[in-house]
Amino acid sequence: MKSKVFYFSILLVLGFLCLTGLDSSAQTKNVPDYDIVIKNGKVFDGSLKPAIKADVAVKDGIIVKITKSIKGTAAKVINAKGFHVTPGFIDLHTHVDEGMYFPENRSCLNYLKQGVTSIIVGQCGSSAWPIFEKAEDQMNRWSEEGIGPNAALLIGHGMVRQIVLGMEDREPTPEELERMKGLVKKAMEQGAHGLSTGLIYEPGSFGKTDEVIELVKVIAPYGGIYHTHTRDERDKLLDAVKEAVEISESSGAPVHISHFKVMEKPNWGLVREACVIIEEARARGIQVTVDQYPYRFSSGYPYMSLIPSSAWRGSENDEGLTSKDIEEIFDHLRDLQLIELYKKVTPYIPLSEHHQQFLDELPRKRLVRRVARSLISAGNFRGPGNARERTLFLERMDNPEEARKIREQVRTYIENMVGPENFIVGICVEKNLEGKSLKQVAAMKRKSIEDAAIELELMGARCIPLRMCEDDIEYIMKKDYVGTGSDGTAPFYGIGLTHIRSYSTFLHKIKKYALERKTVSLSHVIRSQTSLPAQIMNWDDRGWIKEGYKADIVVLDLKNIITGTSISNPHVYSEGVKYLLINGELVLNRGKWTGKLPGEVIRLKKS
Ligand SMILES: [Zn+2]
Repeated sequence: MKSKVFYFSILLVLGFLCLTGLDSSAQTKNVPDYDIVIKNGKVFDGSLKPAIKADVAVKDGIIVKITKSIKGTAAKVINAKGFHVTPGFIDLHTHVDEGMYFPENRSCLNYLKQGVTSIIVGQCGSSAWPIFEKAEDQMNRWSEEGIGPNAALLIGHGMVRQIVLGMEDREPTPEELERMKGLVKKAMEQGAHGLSTGLIYEPGSFGKTDEVIELVKVIAPYGGIYHTHTRDERDKLLDAVKEAVEISESSGAPVHISHFKVMEKPNWGLVREACVIIEEARARGIQVTVDQYPYRFSSGYPYMSLIPSSAWRGSENDEGLTSKDIEEIFDHLRDLQLIELYKKVTPYIPLSEHHQQFLDELPRKRLVRRVARSLISAGNFRGPGNARERTLFLERMDNPEEARKIREQVRTYIENMVGPENFIVGICVEKNLEGKSLKQVAAMKRKSIEDAAIELELMGARCIPLRMCEDDIEYIMKKDYVGTGSDGTAPFYGIGLTHIRSYSTFLHKIKKYALERKTVSLSHVIRSQTSLPAQIMNWDDRGWIKEGYKADIVVLDLKNIITGTSISNPHVYSEGVKYLLINGELVLNRGKWTGKLPGEVIRLKKS
């Protein structure tokens, strides 16, 4: 015992000498050994291994040392005692590029607060470029002016198609296909990571499988990846997944299926068969991966009306103001007048040369539509707040035969989508109803489902259908080829309603599925949002806590994760990330943004 104490004292003295020695040498040079040392944290390195206690040192943006105890000086020491240290989270699927156009949103604070250090943009067939600007210009501007998280760009098939074919629903001629291929090639030359499709959205949906194969063949030699919002996420999910696999197999590029899920109650469970298709393909050596967001509801704006428009308007009644009416009004203006009007409302100021050229070359009909939609959305004038439509609806409800038909339509609509138990009140003037299901509201009000729905609609309630089921979410999450992708945006903080995934995906997944439900282990979730996405994107310098890797690091207080966002109040930043490093720079300090924008545009390295 005595000797142990003795040796311990010697060690202490030696350690002290050693430390002071280092200190004085640092003083003479006046340069600390490290920029940042994170001490006493438990480190998840990105693998499935449990966390181990270690210090992590960072210098010049790189992780330079990981060991039990790091001696030496540092410009900043972070005491991570009681916290966990993980690689920065990589979001495989976001739509933040649109919001990031505006300098105010360039930090993507909603993502930094979740621990996200890298994002992939240009998804679902839609990229800001090459219509609004060249890929090169966007990348250069972000690099010069700074962005929050690192960003990698994809080129959107829908945009490429729009440039060459407009909104026409037909196959391209061989010359047109060559032009499309040329646009994709150019983006790849400029550093894009691959191609994305949105095969349910126009004009992406007009593109047949062969067309997509031809375009994906262009990205394959660059080592690019094909991200796809598949052609169907409902009853035809299996065909859609088979198509994705076929495109990969025929083109030679890896395929990544975005926001993998199946929607609407009658289709629940289909994901299991879809996983079989994916796993068979993987067994054949085809690189198929997917991402997922951990919520039961979908869409950037998930709030819906409880009454189908046919029941609200009635088929024989007049239709009220339509988009066609509005386009007819605008059709009286000359091209130049239309463009001048457009300039007054577009948020893209000043118009880039590219954007101006795009407008100049638009066929007349599409120009009218684009300007009309930018100025007035007919949808804004519809619904229970429209006095005329409301009066007509109530008049029909006074007629017993009409009222019976309306109730029947409402009942079938709700039942066929998700059922009354899965329609949740998001925003309502009667606050006690928020968060309740339509079924619960009907019981509370002692009304039928359809009458409760009509009452909610007339008081302007905004409701959310839970289109996916918990079983499917957990089934998918357990797979080792499933990464995390929020599918979120960079909204203006506090403005409008949005999906809560933009604010909470990453911490919600950890808290609900690893800590609370224990669906998967903590290291499984961390891997799904760090090393796995890095591997999918073919990055060999991010996604791990490893020496020589870029210092994208999260220091997480697992016991105090708060995802305060809710469907009644979606704009709430998540809490729990105490410190966040991006490329070695401190971006969150004690949970607060430091004002730094150290994100890099990650360009695909030419292979
Ligand atoms: Zn999508």
